[in-house]
Amino acid sequence: MHELSVALTLLDGVSEAALRDGIERVTAVHVRIGALSGIARDALLFSWDMASAESIAAGSELRIEDVPVAVFCERCKRERSPAPGTGLLCPVCGAASPTIVRGRELQIVAMEVPA
Ligand SMILES: [Zn+2]
Repeated sequence: MHELSVALTLLDGVSEAALRDGIERVTAVHVRIGALSGIARDALLFSWDMASAESIAAGSELRIEDVPVAVFCERCKRERSPAPGTGLLCPVCGAASPTIVRGRELQIVAMEVPA
């Protein structure tokens, strides 16, 4: 299951940062996930609960911020946001715009610790 390995990767990042900062427990983890990352949100949330069960992030909440796709259209010379499901076509002029500016993210933005 793809999302389980993603959850484990995120958890590695969390554990590393926690170790570095002397954090013993994490209550929530904020991540940014691009629309092109191929990650299913629900599956990731489910995997997170499983993967984090024995870790410092046990019982923590995974807060996912979805990052929509943005491409750079060579014809318009501007950044554009293709409509979902249309691939990488410029929504204004229709040109194929394979230069992806955003949408592939998989990053930890922040961690919450007990007050
Ligand atoms: Zn365009």
